[in-house]
Amino acid sequence: MPTYDDQNIFARILRGEMPNDTVAETDHTLAFRDIRPQAPVHILVIPKGKYVSYDDFAANAPDAEIVDFHRTLARVAAQAGVSLDKGKGFRAITNAGENGVQEVPHFHMHILGGAPMGRMIC
Ligand code: C5P
Repeated sequence: MPTYDDQNIFARILRGEMPNDTVAETDHTLAFRDIRPQAPVHILVIPKGKYVSYDDFAANAPDAEIVDFHRTLARVAAQAGVSLDKGKGFRAITNAGENGVQEVPHFHMHILGGAPMGRMIC
């Protein structure tokens, strides 16, 4: 696992050093709008803990942080009107590492919705 880089942009957002458009925050999780939206709804959900990628988070985060992360993601999707009870659904994805084309080395999931997403390769 790569070493966590404390200077990555999401670490700086979490320290309050960078502005962001927050939509939800809990003790363990922050959700904010992506600055380069790829869909009408494009929100990033990040844990406050220092995890490089999905595999790091899933293997090493305490259960309470993992549960809070997923509950917050679902709540944010509902608030944004894209959950199945409020809207027409969404895509939740994470990019991990070089082949996943991960730009920011702090684990995050993208919530994408508000329009049909198109079929993925696999
Ligand atoms: O999954 P990946 O690491 O490639 O995506 C990072 C995402 O973080 C991009 O969609 C980018 O637009 C977003 N970003 C942001 N605010 C920043 C820097 C990057 O929303 N200050």
